[in-house]
Amino acid sequence: EEILNGIKSTLRVIPDFPKQGIMFLDITTLLLHPKAFKDTIDLFVDRYKHKNISVVAGIEARGFMFGPAIALAIGAKFVPLRKPKKLPGEVISEKYVLEYGTDCIEMHVGAVEPKERAIVVDDLVATGGTLCAAMNLLERAGAVVVECACVIEVPELKCRLMLECVLAGIEARGF
Ligand code: 5GP
Repeated sequence: EEILNGIKSTLRVIPDFPKQGIMFLDITTLLLHPKAFKDTIDLFVDRYKHKNISVVAGIEARGFMFGPAIALAIGAKFVPLRKPKKLPGEVISEKYVLEYGTDCIEMHVGAVEPKERAIVVDDLVATGGTLCAAMNLLERAGAVVVECACVIEVPELKCRLMLECVLAGIEARGF
């Protein structure tokens, strides 16, 4: 509880970013505090170190801030899931629906082997659309998605059971 409160205290909310009416939860301030940053990584590492995970897939861009440290600590590979046209090699893509319009994430072909056990890492889950797309992508490549790991869960999350995500970490309630 003390550790979670310490992590939580490093986060901040920026009103009207990236557009009017949106309360953006900024995690870059967490990265400015080495203890809170390490505590965050350690929570995930403790959770996954004995689960036979060989793939940590991070979602661009903020999943890249947490995923590699977790991967190194648990002895797994890191696989970047990127926005379209960023990865240089052959990719598989997964489109997903946003509130307005669609988006897409991509992964290199051959980045994961069939039956590898994977976790998906991102900073924050809201509707869960991004995580669902990431899970689909990994499963299409034959990986087994064990869990999705996010630092923050925003309130009124409806996708939790649907995703069967166990969200390690802190909740944004109270902001
Ligand atoms: P979802 O697909 O669950 O609706 O949205 C989650 C995705 O949007 C994540 O990739 C996350 O990085 C980004 N996102 C949406 N709102 C916020 C926010 O307030 N703060 C941060 N840091 N990321 C957000």
